[in-house]
Amino acid sequence: MNVLHIGIDDTDSPDGMCTTFLASQIINKLRYNGIELLDYPRLIRLNPFARFKTRGNGGVSFKIKNDDKANLAREIVLNEVEKLSMFDCENTNPGVVFYEGQITQEMQDYAFRAIYEFITIDEAEKFGKSIGCEIHKFKKGRGIIGSIAAISLPLSDFTFELLAYRDSANYGTKRQIDYDSVYVMDKETFPDTFENIDYGENYIAIEPKTPCPVLYGIRSNTVEALKKAQEIVKVSEPIVDLCIFKTNQHTDMHIQKTENIASMNQFGCYDVVGEVKNKPTVIDGGHMFFYIFDESGEIECGAYEPTKGFRNIVADLRPGDVIRVFGGIGEQNTFNIEKFQVIELNDVEYKNPICECGKRMTSAGRNKGFKCKKCGKKIESNEKVPVKITRNLKKSQFYETPVSARRHLSKPLCRL
Ligand code: ATP
Repeated sequence: MNVLHIGIDDTDSPDGMCTTFLASQIINKLRYNGIELLDYPRLIRLNPFARFKTRGNGGVSFKIKNDDKANLAREIVLNEVEKLSMFDCENTNPGVVFYEGQITQEMQDYAFRAIYEFITIDEAEKFGKSIGCEIHKFKKGRGIIGSIAAISLPLSDFTFELLAYRDSANYGTKRQIDYDSVYVMDKETFPDTFENIDYGENYIAIEPKTPCPVLYGIRSNTVEALKKAQEIVKVSEPIVDLCIFKTNQHTDMHIQKTENIASMNQFGCYDVVGEVKNKPTVIDGGHMFFYIFDESGEIECGAYEPTKGFRNIVADLRPGDVIRVFGGIGEQNTFNIEKFQVIELNDVEYKNPICECGKRMTSAGRNKGFKCKKCGKKIESNEKVPVKITRNLKKSQFYETPVSARRHLSKPLCRL
């Protein structure tokens, strides 16, 4: 079938709008004109380190039949983007692309580059033209970077998100969501739905904290679970629209394979194995740091203050432990941990020997062996003795940051 792919990005600002809402408005207009989407619209999260993102660096795409109504569809899309984008914001630079035909391997490669690396507007434009995209740039048109990626990314793994939108009269006001019903929803639909609540922080994660049009967003592996969840969540303000997106959220698509620590780059996200070099320490502000190393080099790992109780888990790591960490290398060149798996636990501690009388000995001075304070016995050897200790961490187990600190792309343990 001849298909028209439509990609939209960079229409919102921190003060309002949301590209998903704009897409949902467009979809309604298309439907009104007898144009149905082929498959669900897609919400594609791109490089989490992209400089000009508003929040979660998401682009939107959808596809329709490329028939005699396709030109009308193009017109509707462009009109709505023109009408609803937050043009006053300096950092809002919408981009729309139309692409007819099959998604090629080079388009897929481009999409992964948009998740792993930085792409310039010029590069995106050149690439878009080379594959025959019809490109529409508004202001600087930065959105074309994400729009092309949003239509091109293959979804070998995917989740769904149901977004409920507010009446514009209520934008910026407290969202009228019955929190108790969210707890019920989570209880009845988890793990088919996930990321609903952060129990440690009593944080309702389905509720955005920005003045955007979204009333709530529920994430799930299946559309059926979303429908059930939606029925359970009670709100006391109007929902003007609902839209379900197919998405790469919570798939770990941002995580790249790497040979070793030295081959990782700043602003890349990886899964890497290393040995813990030092006991994690906390600095002012509550951020926790430690180093891991392998034969190629070392890197500082961080569990930042917003990861809250996760830091208590990290604090149990000790030198000699071997862990597999998942996360990204940020501004400070520190590996920001999203989750880790324990590969080896160092459960041996070296202590002073125990005297025949049962008391643990103390050092008799540098290189002078040990002495017993109780019975006075001395030994010449300076060698401490290995003692097996109990560890709270468990071998093979994964540990993750809490929901409130989770990246859109991070795969939660309930999906592993
Ligand atoms: P929201 O999640 O609220 O929709 P957002 O966080 O997605 O907002 P955008 O307004 O879409 O933010 O801005 C992100 C900008 O970054 C877009 O212009 C997009 O094209 C661009 N972008 C996306 N991926 C990359 C990348 N890999 N390199 C450079 N720019 C990128």
